[in-house]
Amino acid sequence: MQADEIELASYVRCVPDFPKTGIQFQDISPLLASPLAFRTSIEKMSIIARDLSFSHIVGIDSRGFIFGAALAIHMNKPFVMMRKPNKLPLASHSQIYDLEYGQDALEIQETVVPKTAEVLLLDDVIATGGTLVAAAKLIRQLDANVVGAMTLLEIKALKGSNQLQSNDIKYFSVLSV
Ligand code: AMP
Repeated sequence: MQADEIELASYVRCVPDFPKTGIQFQDISPLLASPLAFRTSIEKMSIIARDLSFSHIVGIDSRGFIFGAALAIHMNKPFVMMRKPNKLPLASHSQIYDLEYGQDALEIQETVVPKTAEVLLLDDVIATGGTLVAAAKLIRQLDANVVGAMTLLEIKALKGSNQLQSNDIKYFSVLSV
């Protein structure tokens, strides 16, 4: 089978009530377990990304690392990790954001993001958009520019893309549910 013939969406499995009642968890494990589906998803991302003028890919902890790193190799761009707290040595900047219950934070090393960087943010899924908005604020703290944010999948009902638009972040996705 050729990459353009597969139904990519069929490789993402919806798991009801995980990790909490009421959450429809979008599980990318079957997609990653298929070399054809994984490669197709990266090729589709690269088709979108080649029209954007960006210098760095920043992947968000943790599933954003999978797609971000693969896309960075595919497009020959530097890859940068944006991590949850206390995971990254020499982290210089952080951004706190609200979750449904409580707060979380993202951290980054300024040494790997020059002020001239034109950043494409990468994650697996957008739900409310809170994570990607916080990620963009963190990049802007470094005086670098956010060219856009990309995910494999958008959960449209949660309207995350509206949050991104309100924060002046261009958004791109391969799939939506
Ligand atoms: P949000 O900040 O609400 O847009 O949530 C996006 C982040 O949480 C991403 O890093 C996703 O991996 C994860 N996430 C949130 N909701 C889901 C979901 N229903 N299925 C899979 N991942 C999710």
